[in-house]
Amino acid sequence: MEPLKEQLKKKVVIIGGGLTGLTLAFMLERKGIDWILFERSPVPGGVMQTKKRDGFIYETGPNTGITGNGEVVELFEMLAPDCNLDLANHASANRWILRNGKWVALPSGLIGGIKTPLFSFYDKFRILAEPFRKRGTNPMETVANMVRRRMGKTYLDNAVDPFISGIYAGDPDQLVTKYALPKLYNLEQNYGSFIGGSIKKSKEPKSERDKKATRQVFAAKGGFSNLINALVSRLPKERLFMGTTDMIISKAEESFTVTVKNLSGEKTTLIGEKCITTTGGYGLKGMFDFISDDELKAIIDMKYAKVVQVIMAFKQWNGPKLNAFGGLIPSKEKRNILGVLFPSSIFTDRTPEGGALLSTFMGGIKKPEIIGMSDEALLQLVHKELDELLSVSSSNEAFTEIYRYYHAIPQYDAGSPAKLEAIDALESKHPGLILAGNIRGGIGIADRVKQAFDLAETL
Ligand SMILES: Cc1cc2nc3c(=O)[nH]c(=O)nc-3n(C[C@H](O)[C@H](O)[C@H](O)COP(=O)(O)OP(=O)(O)OC[C@H]3O[C@@H](n4cnc5c(N)ncnc54)[C@H](O)[C@@H]3O)c2cc1C
Repeated sequence: MEPLKEQLKKKVVIIGGGLTGLTLAFMLERKGIDWILFERSPVPGGVMQTKKRDGFIYETGPNTGITGNGEVVELFEMLAPDCNLDLANHASANRWILRNGKWVALPSGLIGGIKTPLFSFYDKFRILAEPFRKRGTNPMETVANMVRRRMGKTYLDNAVDPFISGIYAGDPDQLVTKYALPKLYNLEQNYGSFIGGSIKKSKEPKSERDKKATRQVFAAKGGFSNLINALVSRLPKERLFMGTTDMIISKAEESFTVTVKNLSGEKTTLIGEKCITTTGGYGLKGMFDFISDDELKAIIDMKYAKVVQVIMAFKQWNGPKLNAFGGLIPSKEKRNILGVLFPSSIFTDRTPEGGALLSTFMGGIKKPEIIGMSDEALLQLVHKELDELLSVSSSNEAFTEIYRYYHAIPQYDAGSPAKLEAIDALESKHPGLILAGNIRGGIGIADRVKQAFDLAETL
């Protein structure tokens, strides 16, 4: 690796080597644009990390993505054969929802929708009138209000609330639809209805890229670290600086000066025409000597869900058949877990023969205190919950691991307009500075890839 101090001037400096930063570097490299990337951790990937132990392959961060845009599919096409898209097994089309302590399948078709006990008789009738309901006029309407207004309370409680727990570890009463679920918001705004809008949209002509957005559940074959490794393997090593600390970014006339300490503690300065951050909002505090904390306040103060992920590996699974994506838990069930994924049912080759993996999520916006519990107390709690819900004690447990994320998922809540205004104001005041990452543009894997593609295009 080239010593840091010999670097001089680069077109683009990227801060953060998670999925967003690495995809951006990869796209710039393909376009022949000069870049350099600084990552604080000694390993790349940010929250995207796969582990291997005793024949099990499991994720400690994101488990699955959705092919919600064409860019994420194109990224895999570009990285093949070093990394391949792993589409979820058919069984994972089933989603379980807890109702009065028992799992109920979330209906997918019309018949299932009519028969399901998850929604009230009244709401099932009400849904028929959804296309004729008036369009909302409040751009700051929360997800809870919008769903209650268009679909009814039982849809909110038994479908949307657990879905929001699963994606945002969030609270539908706090998330603002326009920012948290923009596609849903736009369906109502552009077509007047979720149902009618989805039908009309599916009939509109699509670009080649849009045709690839099939909304399937996916991972990278062998785990998401293979995606990260494939990206890294296509990048020149001398441009990736891992384990950098004490970063200060200053502004020169038409460029940015970045000073960091490298792994051996050596201080180095380098100049970039553009500076793109992909860290969390909290990570920007104190990073720039030309921006006051006041100007960054709305970004630094973004609310994050604190999440605990507990991985349990079983050599021989003797519990109920896990023929589903996982189980999500509505808040009104008042359990101590948000939900549990069945990674070994979603993807093949993740466990030894007969084994199973459970990935349980706890905490979130509604129970932030859970992250402060000791490992022992957490394990006791998760075992109690999963024993009641999935009879885990009947199976042969190989190991359990706990991962805590103090800044897991940014919440696109009522603070979103102020945050986006602050980002716009800073980017206009300091041309060449771009504040990216999941502080805006979506938290999902496909959103992160799209943002990186879009940035590379505009550069
Ligand atoms: C537990 C968990 C589960 C999730 N599950 C899913 C899921 O199932 N599906 C899905 O689509 N999404 C999921 N997400 C969200 C998704 O994983 C993230 O939005 C996405 O991976 C973020 O990528 P990123 O590169 O933007 O940020 P990050 O992965 O956070 O990377 C940012 C990088 O910046 C680095 N950094 C910070 N400060 C500095 C600094 N001063 N100098 C240099 N580097 C710095 C960090 O070390 C980090 O590596 C999940 C997230 C978490 C935490």
